[in-house]
Amino acid sequence: MSLPQDLPKNYQFAEVEPRWQGIWQDADHEFDRGSALPQFIIDTPPPYPTGQFHIGNAFNWCYIDFIARYKRMRGYNVMFPQGWDCHGLPTEVKVEEIHGITKNDLPREEFRELCRELTLKNIEKMRLTLHRLGFSVDWSNEYITMLPEYYRKTQASFLTMLKSGYIYQSDHPVNFCTRCETAIAFAEVSYEPRETRLNYLDFDGIEIATTRPELLAACVAVAVHPADERYAGLSGRRLRVPVFGHDVPVIADDAVDPAFGSGAVMICTFGDKQDVFWWKQHNLDLRKAIDRQGRMTAVAGKYQDRKSGECREAILRDMRETGILLREEPLEQRVGTCWRCKTPIEIMSERQWFVRIVPDEILRAAKEISWTPQHMFLRMENWVRQMEWDWCISRQRIFATPIPVWFCARCKEMVLPDPADLPIDPMKDKPHHPCPHCGSDEVTGEEDVLDTWMDSSISVLNVTGWDGATVPATFPAQIRPQGHDIIRTWAFYTILRSVALTGSRPWDAILINGMVLGEDGFKMSKSRGNIISPEDITVTYGADAFRQWAAAGAATGSDIMFNWNDVIAASRFQTKLWNIARFILLQLRRKDFDHAAPLTSLADRWLLSKLAETTAEVTDAMEHFQFDRGLKALREFSWNILADNYIELVKGRLYADDPARDAACRALWVTLDSLCRMMAPYAPHFAEEISSHLKEGSVHRKRWPEPGFRDQEAIVNGDLLVRIVSEVRHHKHEQGLALNAPMGKVSVFTTRIHDDDGDMARALNAPVEWRNDTGALEKRPGEVQFNMAVIGPALRKDANAFMDAIRGFPPEILADPPSTVRIDGREIAVPPGSFAVQNTYMVGGESVDLITIDDVIVTVRKRP
Ligand SMILES: [Zn+2]
Ligand SMILES: [Zn+2]
Repeated sequence: MSLPQDLPKNYQFAEVEPRWQGIWQDADHEFDRGSALPQFIIDTPPPYPTGQFHIGNAFNWCYIDFIARYKRMRGYNVMFPQGWDCHGLPTEVKVEEIHGITKNDLPREEFRELCRELTLKNIEKMRLTLHRLGFSVDWSNEYITMLPEYYRKTQASFLTMLKSGYIYQSDHPVNFCTRCETAIAFAEVSYEPRETRLNYLDFDGIEIATTRPELLAACVAVAVHPADERYAGLSGRRLRVPVFGHDVPVIADDAVDPAFGSGAVMICTFGDKQDVFWWKQHNLDLRKAIDRQGRMTAVAGKYQDRKSGECREAILRDMRETGILLREEPLEQRVGTCWRCKTPIEIMSERQWFVRIVPDEILRAAKEISWTPQHMFLRMENWVRQMEWDWCISRQRIFATPIPVWFCARCKEMVLPDPADLPIDPMKDKPHHPCPHCGSDEVTGEEDVLDTWMDSSISVLNVTGWDGATVPATFPAQIRPQGHDIIRTWAFYTILRSVALTGSRPWDAILINGMVLGEDGFKMSKSRGNIISPEDITVTYGADAFRQWAAAGAATGSDIMFNWNDVIAASRFQTKLWNIARFILLQLRRKDFDHAAPLTSLADRWLLSKLAETTAEVTDAMEHFQFDRGLKALREFSWNILADNYIELVKGRLYADDPARDAACRALWVTLDSLCRMMAPYAPHFAEEISSHLKEGSVHRKRWPEPGFRDQEAIVNGDLLVRIVSEVRHHKHEQGLALNAPMGKVSVFTTRIHDDDGDMARALNAPVEWRNDTGALEKRPGEVQFNMAVIGPALRKDANAFMDAIRGFPPEILADPPSTVRIDGREIAVPPGSFAVQNTYMVGGESVDLITIDDVIVTVRKRP
């Protein structure tokens, strides 16, 4: 333990933070599977290993670390695992870029290996940021979804759900990105406004408006509203599709909007979700005009092989020339696009793998979970209720978990691996048994791979210790912290999978955090140039200041705008608290004190009662994940109660070697120790640094403080005491006296406080007496001051007589003047504001200044 004299004058985060990071042991943060303590498992989000742990991640991790550190101090066996959700397109694209190749230039396994190499490098970079921010991660529970020990579980979960009927394969329309050349799920479609053209065509004699003329080749019907008189009698007839010449039926359907375009619409396979609906409803043909690369198929005749956009322009040109195109109008439209590359999605019917969605059982589990903030549950509920299609989980990519299935080359039967053989790559490995149906040994492996959400949606099973078969005793986890942007994906898929695989909810609670916006209030993006990285902040102000910004910047669940001022405020608070702590530590070490000194002084009782109030407030805030409220209470207590009032009040006692010094030291020791403990989740380095000067042992292994000594009367009277001191100091200042200059005797007339053990006297450098006898205070009316601006116009020639009359009043009348005066036998009303009496006050025959504070009178003798 170092001496307080060694405490540097200024807090140096740049020296302190790395020092503690070097001292803290990973083992201190490990979950103990054999522990008898209550468990607290956090199902942390596995970030995508881009190489940059961005500010949004860091913000989310601050919340997680506040919870983890708080719960450890509350006696829980905490797991704060760190996962990495590796698979997916961005890494494939990056590898193509780095090596100047396309994914088809290499064998699949070699390409995957390059993806793995890059991912591991990126993870290493991101681990450093996590370390620098002081997060108490349990590295013994780190998981990497691309490694065999993890994707073995993804494959096991696939097989379990396949066997229980949750997973099936089918030809069904799915959302497809022709740039990424893969199917995507509904949750991966984002909608963007676009300006397009609405083209009116002569469609075999009737007018039809379409935004996608290239889909004429895929037209399978024309639909009209049954009550639309313009098309009465048309239903049931067949029409010839312009340009392409095939015949299609006319159908009547209530879902047609007669007000859109001409009221007649063409149904194509597939323009949008509505087309899919009609296609099923009316059992229509399937005409596939666009392929996986976004090129026109043979169905498009002479336009075959053109990109769909080129085809659209060519068809419009041809229709203009032949007079089929009647007119064009601009149209604002919301277009579904691929969330990764923004390419407009196509809907294609494909053989794909699906997970069955059962909305009721998902909602039942979602309702058992406690949502913070509560309203976020509605987002889940709305999403589940609008589910129309099952979850498409197959992807036509490479860097992903392989679908562990073969097909028999002879009879086409599905051949599944034994769970013990997992993980497998069906494109490379062979089953250890022949086809169960026909006995053939010849199989072809499934080429499709799994959606990455299939990996990450079993994170909770993985961290609770699932082996791929039996539900672990530590399941469900206690909490899932995550952003509101992935409620429809990660939260939804996790609940779905948890119900399907375990029959239960995945967690007891879910905590939703907001997004970090740039200083300009917009989402951070390269194009706006408003990106700030966690390192930008930690280099200048340190990790603890960053963490405090995350806590204080917004209410939990709300979006948070990055703001340098909040970081600076956090840094200033640290400076202030460092100065406070330094002062306290120097006093505590100056001379030994009795740690059990009786607390009889009002100021000490007041401080500790206020500390108990603050402790209760901060504890309640932490329990409800209101980190901003907790930190605010700590700052207000430190700044106002402790520094500005208590220390100013007892400084004299600490310096004076008064016998009551011991009690002040005891109160300060308890207060500083509690503050360190409560600051520990927010500012772990800072709290550890101060705490290390206070007592042996890491603050992070101490218990969270309980609200201790509490005396309601001391709170009320102490509040009054500090108000009196502050008012008298203000008076002293107004009198032009230096704050430490001696001043005249102060008498306080109140029945509430009888004694303060001399604190106020020392704080004011004045003799102080506490009196409950207001009778001792004498009020003497003194000089009368007239206001001629009122008297002149109101009384004119009576002015002088009026003033003489007032001057002639005896003191007791002047103390409470009447509303009229008699002048020359006339009763004259006293004009309001016409004079004022300068009362003087006396105590024990001495002239004093008077200060009133509610029902308390304080007098200050004029001459010392
Ligand atoms: Zn895409
Ligand atoms: Zn077979």
